Formats: sequence, structure tokens, C-alpha cells
Amino acid sequence: MTKEWFPVPVAVDCPGCGAQTRSAAIVVGPTALVNDAGFKPDDDLLSKPWKHLNGYALVENLGGRTQNIERFIVDRFHASFVVVDGSLRSICQHCHDSLPLDSMRAAAMNGFVRLGARRCLLANEGLLIFSSHVELTEFRSGTTIEEDRLRYPDYALMLICDAESRAGETGTIELWHSIARGDYALIIKGHTGQEMLRDGMSDDLASAVAFISDLGLVVTELHLARSASPFCSLARDLFIDALIDAGYGRETQE
Ligand SMILES: [Zn+2]
Repeated sequence: MTKEWFPVPVAVDCPGCGAQTRSAAIVVGPTALVNDAGFKPDDDLLSKPWKHLNGYALVENLGGRTQNIERFIVDRFHASFVVVDGSLRSICQHCHDSLPLDSMRAAAMNGFVRLGARRCLLANEGLLIFSSHVELTEFRSGTTIEEDRLRYPDYALMLICDAESRAGETGTIELWHSIARGDYALIIKGHTGQEMLRDGMSDDLASAVAFISDLGLVVTELHLARSASPFCSLARDLFIDALIDAGYGRETQE
């Protein structure tokens, strides 16, 4: 699961039609969140913590539950990718055969480093992609593209939401807000209080609500982090508005 991903253009010879073709591969960055093999998103989200990848990696295969991938990758780069049998493949622009990864791997990784050095990587507008089954080839450690952005420098805890996964597991979602930056961040914890994942959001709570529902979580109750704080009350009112806009019923928030 990540918002840090980059489509990398690649030129290789197509073994299907023999022509040189342009296609693309996907590279994910250090803030990508990964979980072990055997992780079941519906059951384990509130019981197994996610870890940062802490490096760049070429996506060898994306499959399983691939929320948003068709919309954000295949629809936008339809000359380069296709989903076959539930997994993402790079294709030849001429014959539309899928290209073998052996021939793509070096070209994609070199292309990524070259583009990164020239700061020419395409922005992906912070779109979250999620796959329940992914194979990655990590770049050798030390590959850096840009300086790390500061994460969560000055956030204050606003709300603590009780949450439930589709499998009925319970946990909490903390909503943090940075007044200086105007941004939100979410920290998701399992029922024992162990942190499962955290993510920074834009200033718009609708994206926080969408992120929660993309994870398959439902907010069941809201608590103010500090009951006397007018900031917390304001955050609650805004968050409830965002939940209602996303289709939540009123009775679920009180
Ligand atoms: Zn071809």
C-alpha cells in the first residue's frame, strides 16, 4: 500500500513482435507500507503492523486484492499496462503482448535512477494504491531520490475513533492535525494499542475518510482527545461532516 509510486517509462525489445517498444514499470518508494506474506487484509489489518519499505523497489507483480490499481494505473497508462488474471502486466505498445519482467527489470531500474536524478519523475498526485499480493525487487540500499520529507513534525491528537474491520476486529484510528501545516495524519492501532500503520493526509478530511474505507475499516464511535479543547470539537464536527458526505448514517457517530 503506498501513495509513493512512480510510473517509469521503459524502452525494450518485444519478444512477441520483435519491435522495439515503449512501455512502463512501477517503482514504489520508502514510505510504501508492506506486510508479510500471509497477511489477509480483511482479517489482519488491526492485528498485524505494517512496516515502511525504507527503500525503493521495482514492482514485479501486483495482484490479489488490487484496490484502485485498475483505475489509477491501467486507466491512466492504458498503452503500457493491462490487468491479466488479476495481476498487473506491462505490455508492448504494438502487439499488446505482456512483456517479460526479465527484460524490463534492468531497464526500469536504470531508467528510474536516471529520471530521479534529473527530477523528471511523473507525479502521481498522491493517489493511494493497494494490493494484497505484491512481489518487489528492492534497489540496492542507499538509492535516494530526494531528501526525506519531514513526517509528523508538529501534529496534535484531535480525535480517537473506535473502528472495526470487515472481519469484526476492533481497533482505533487516531486523527492528528498540524495547525502549522494544515494537514491531517492518521494512526491506526489494533485493539491492544499496537500501531499498525500511519499515514499523512492532505488538509481535506474527505481523503482521510476515503483512506479509512479503502482499508476496509468502519468508524463506530468518536471521542475527543481533550474534551475541553475547542480545536478537538471543531475537528470532530468537520470529521462528522466528512463521514456523512461519505455516506455514514448519523447514528453511527454518536
Ligand atoms: Zn510486441
